[in-house]
Parts: sequence; C-alpha cells; structure tokens
Amino acid sequence: MRAGKIDIKSLRLEELQEKLGELGEPKYRAGQIADWLHKKRVTSFDEMTDLPQSLRAELARQFSLDKIDIVRVLGSKVLIPASPALYGEKSDRRTICISTQVGCAYGCKFCASGLEGFSRNLRANEIVDQIIAVERASGEKIDNIVFMGMGEPFANFENLTRAIRIINSPWGLGIGARHITVSTSGLAPQIRKLADEPTQVRLAVSLHGATDEVRDRIMPINRRYNIDMLLSACDYYTSRKKQRLTFEYILIAGVNDSDEQAHLLAKHARRLSAKVNLIPYNTVEGLPWSRPSRNRQENFLSILRAAGIAATLRHEKGHDIEAACGQLRLQTNRKERRQVTA
Ligand code: SAH
Ligand code: SF4
Repeated sequence: MRAGKIDIKSLRLEELQEKLGELGEPKYRAGQIADWLHKKRVTSFDEMTDLPQSLRAELARQFSLDKIDIVRVLGSKVLIPASPALYGEKSDRRTICISTQVGCAYGCKFCASGLEGFSRNLRANEIVDQIIAVERASGEKIDNIVFMGMGEPFANFENLTRAIRIINSPWGLGIGARHITVSTSGLAPQIRKLADEPTQVRLAVSLHGATDEVRDRIMPINRRYNIDMLLSACDYYTSRKKQRLTFEYILIAGVNDSDEQAHLLAKHARRLSAKVNLIPYNTVEGLPWSRPSRNRQENFLSILRAAGIAATLRHEKGHDIEAACGQLRLQTNRKERRQVTA
C-alpha cells in the first residue's frame, strides 16, 4: 500500500457512497465500483471502463488498489475439502482457512503461529484477498470460510468485522453468514461484542481444556479470562444468537485427553448446547507435544457422545504437508533462513 492512501477494497458500500458523494458523483457509482472490485476483480482503476476517465484518475489519486500473491501453493491444503459433519456443512463445500494477522501474540504453547511472535494485523482488504487469490489460482468458487489461519481474529476486531461485511454482502463476495466461522482462543469481551452485532456468523471457541488448571498450562489467555469468564461470555452469545456454537478441542497426549476432562467438557457443552469438534494434535517441529493414540481419541469421543453431546473427531486433512495453524509460515520462514545462511 502506498503511504497515506486507503485501500479501496477495505471500504463498505456505504463508505464508498459517502466518498463518491464528497467527489460530487452520484450514489450508483459506488455500486459500479464495488462490482468491479469484488465481482469482476480488476486490479487497476483503468479497467473500470464504465466510469468516466476523470473519475478513474481521481480514484487512483485517492485510493490504492492492492492485490496479494500466493507465496506457496500446496496441493492438499489450498482448498480444504470440508468433512461432512464439521459445522453442519454438506461435504461438497469448498472451504478455505484464512488468517487475520501475521503471527500471533497469544502464545498458546502448542501452536506454531505463536512461536515466532506477532508481526502485524492484516487490513480488511488483505483478509478478503486471501479468498480471491485462492479462487483465482484454483478456478473454483469458495463457499465456506473458516477464520482458523494465523492470528487471533478477535484481536483485530475492526478489520475482521469489516472483512466479514465485505465477504457476506451481496455487493461483495456474497457468502452467507452461516458459511463463515470465526475461531477465537477465548477473548471474552469480544465474544460479547460479536454477540451484539447483527451478523449471524458462526462462532468456534478453542477451549482445549475443561479446567483452569489445564487451560492455564497451555493457553496464556486463560490467565486473563478464565473458564468461568469465558463460559459466561459464551452464555451471553448463545442467548443473543440463533445458532449453536462449537468448542474446538485439540487432543494432546497426557495434557487434556483424560476421561475426567472429557466428562467436564461434556458438562460445559451441555450447559451451552454447544457442539464439540475434537482435533487430534498436529505435531509441530521443535515442540514437545503429541497426539494421543487412535484408541484414546475414540474413547474421549465416546464419553462425549454417551453424555448426549454432538461431537465429531476431525480426521486431519493437512497433516501430510504440515499445514496446521501457523505451520506453513514457520516452514517458509525456516526455508528462507536456510537459503539466506546457505
Ligand atoms: N487464534 C484463533 C484462530 C486460529 S487457530 C484460535 O486460537 O482459535 C485455529 C485452530 O487451530 C485453533 O483451535 C487452534 O487451537 C488450532 N491449532 C493450533 N495449533 C494446532 C496444532 N498444532 N494442531 C491442531 N490444531 C491446532
Ligand atoms: Fe494464536 Fe490461536 Fe495459535 Fe493461540 S492457537 S497462538 S490464539 S493462533
């Protein structure tokens, strides 16, 4: 982005209308521009051929129009074939996992994203462009979005909600709110804030431990918002929204996979009528954690199911290419460093 210019793709339709009003242009121009940006996806103002030349020049003076390039394209993980039970979607959905930050400041002990610290928030247009870049590279239309890439979405709340508006609106990408899932490590105040927004996006909460003792050990955020505070924010959320929320629960051997944890997790899930999505831990180079045996995973699942909880065990799709949260960045950075030092 050139310094001082706003990226035009970060603007909501109302904001575009306002800017055009300031330029003395009619309102419908905003609709034309949104169409060029989000539907036809041009990469320069000059391509907006139904706008007067003078307006195109003025827009180029006032706004930037960036496009991102894909750093690496990896066979199995650019598009995640969604498993049928996950988030209640049909199996033919084309899902992408997108990031909201470069790195992450929350430092969960098991996660590759936290390992190299936090660099910066992504702008709304950079968040949306991840979808556009993948559609361009794959030739497929994405119809399901999960905010489960790098970063803590709720720590970039303003750009996140701005991006969601663009992804969800008919004048933008037109993806239904029920096909957008935001995952948080447990920022209780922002869960309440999202509950007060009109959007009906789905919420996934990364619980990963049913007691403060376990959560404190692996997720530093729990020292700020403990399980009580987190669950009462979730209570508030479910009281305001129609859909059920999902607890994400990574299974880490010897850390959070005991029968006792399963029973307590079932209790929390019942209280909130939440679904539980169990994810066998993806090992990260340099970290000591590992996934429990298949037997142990199934056992944990059966305790939840016996307690009447809607639970699924995710069979990892990206394990082969180390595509779990933050792992791709770690690999790419390490490779670059090796190239630099070689
Ligand atoms: N910061 C948000 C969203 C990004 S992480 C959050 O924490 O929810 C998306 C999901 O991937 C989270 O549930 C996270 O705990 C999980 N995750 C992180 N590292 C993982 C790993 N190595 N194996 C499996 N899941 C992992
Ligand atoms: Fe950040 Fe989420 Fe990874 Fe925790 S699990 S370090 S919040 S990206």
